[in-house]
Amino acid sequence: MLKRWYENSLKPDYRAKDLLSIDWAEFKANGIKFVFLDIDNTLAKHGSRQADDYAREAVNLIESFDLSICILSNALSDRIADYANSLNVSYMAQANKPSTKKILRKLTELNLQPEQTLMIGDQIFTDIWAGKRAGCVTIMVEQRFANEAIQIRFKRKLERFLFNRYEKFS
Ligand SMILES: [Mg+2]
Repeated sequence: MLKRWYENSLKPDYRAKDLLSIDWAEFKANGIKFVFLDIDNTLAKHGSRQADDYAREAVNLIESFDLSICILSNALSDRIADYANSLNVSYMAQANKPSTKKILRKLTELNLQPEQTLMIGDQIFTDIWAGKRAGCVTIMVEQRFANEAIQIRFKRKLERFLFNRYEKFS
């Protein structure tokens, strides 16, 4: 039962080391038009208000394939606004992932089907779960920085347990 739940609701469609190692050309060729991106530990260090070189390089790379980006974060909007503005991309803060509400609202606004979009993040229980529930194609990236709050470390342990149990040897 846990296995079915994991595979249907939580298992990322793809995994990548980081945003620079994703085959953007391939996703573009397969009809992807829009990218939802988590911030903390996907693009940036937890709490950043300004993009660094890595984030700038990643955004430039994605945009070079004519893909639009929306930052989707559970964090508060004043920080996310500063951060998104430093990259000149759109954003939605306080998204409450795994809630799909803001993703679905954006899809309606842009008249896109969920399968034309990617949801990319470093956490299964927020980013990937939200993306899969909304019907997006999901990519899990490795976390950029190791220092995390206790509740996130707990979720990491659960993620590792599920991965070792259901993916490693399959
Ligand atoms: Mg994150």
